[in-house]
Amino acid sequence: MISEPTDESEIRHREAAIEEIAARLGVRAERGRRFAELTSLRVGGSIDWVISPHTEAQAAGVAHGLDEAGIGWRPLGSGSNVLADDGEHHYVVLSLKDLKGEVQFGGELVRVSAGYSLPRLCVDVARQGLSGIEGLGGIPGTVGGALWMNAGAYEHEIGKVTETVRVAREGQVVEIPGSAVQWNYRHTSFAEGELLLGATLRLQPDDPGKILTRMEEAKSRRMATQPHGGRSAGCFFKNPPEGTVGTGKIIDEMGMKGARRGTAVVSPVHANFIVTEGENARAEDALALAEEIRGRVKREQGIELEYEVELWRANEPQKQDPDAESKEQ
Ligand SMILES: Cc1cc2nc3c(=O)[nH]c(=O)nc-3n(C[C@H](O)[C@H](O)[C@H](O)COP(=O)(O)OP(=O)(O)OC[C@H]3O[C@@H](n4cnc5c(N)ncnc54)[C@H](O)[C@@H]3O)c2cc1C
Repeated sequence: MISEPTDESEIRHREAAIEEIAARLGVRAERGRRFAELTSLRVGGSIDWVISPHTEAQAAGVAHGLDEAGIGWRPLGSGSNVLADDGEHHYVVLSLKDLKGEVQFGGELVRVSAGYSLPRLCVDVARQGLSGIEGLGGIPGTVGGALWMNAGAYEHEIGKVTETVRVAREGQVVEIPGSAVQWNYRHTSFAEGELLLGATLRLQPDDPGKILTRMEEAKSRRMATQPHGGRSAGCFFKNPPEGTVGTGKIIDEMGMKGARRGTAVVSPVHANFIVTEGENARAEDALALAEEIRGRVKREQGIELEYEVELWRANEPQKQDPDAESKEQ
């Protein structure tokens, strides 16, 4: 666990270390960014530093440099599954959005980097006549974010087609088999602090026209049942493990569609979506609304809802050792 530096000289030492790592590896390092600019909910406080590598080797080098300097960091893709609180986040955000590279095709295998857009990849592979992820076409975010939580929709999950994953270990790019990872419902066995750099997927040949049609059908179903254009992070809570009733229906039946806390509202279209409104939207409103929903579902249904969205607290020390306790969300 790394705690934030408090003493002036410690802070200067940390700043210099971050600048040195970025300069040595030739990556962009910026100050003054806010989670409100980097997440789809458009809320969240200031970030000390955002570092944006372009290549897998650079990303592995940055993570290693920060680990060696004892500086806390967190990987971020498109920020479409993160609710960061309004506080000052004193760690480095390792933004993977510039780590796009080129998609490489070799028969049924597709090699892609972590920052590549998942919706774009779905179109690319469909055009190549490769099937297996067309259900994921409407999920915003990067390939790395999808791998991290085993994103899925309409009978497709990224983990089911992942042949290998490239991860950062000791500054190197290391390839591990997909079969070594546990791919569960919106959860994987990747350890906290594991940086995912890219993946190779194994897909099935099919007619491009048919794949694109299936993808459009999935998108139409999504458009009909979910808010679009709004500022959300997708489903806020996971579905209960053994229930036949989804969380959205449970919240809807409690009459909570349209419920509001300040700048956060339960979507009138899908009750498991919280959307934020206005230039000054606050994470604390979204969190308060989410906790109100959890409290009512617990009291009235006896069900303990689990967050699907990741909550990032400003005052939480960052974990860095991938061998540390496994990610439990
Ligand atoms: C409108 C809407 C609809 C959605 N629908 C769905 C859906 O149908 N199914 C579904 O599964 N999800 C859905 N989501 C949630 C979200 O789009 C997915 O979870 C997506 O895969 C997140 O990708 P991201 O790049 O935005 O990840 P981020 O939100 O940036 O990060 C999410 C988590 O992944 C980690 N992470 C990101 N990149 C890496 C990396 N390279 N290495 C290590 N860790 C990393 C982050 O640290 C964080 O813990 C939806 C979201 C929205 C806004």
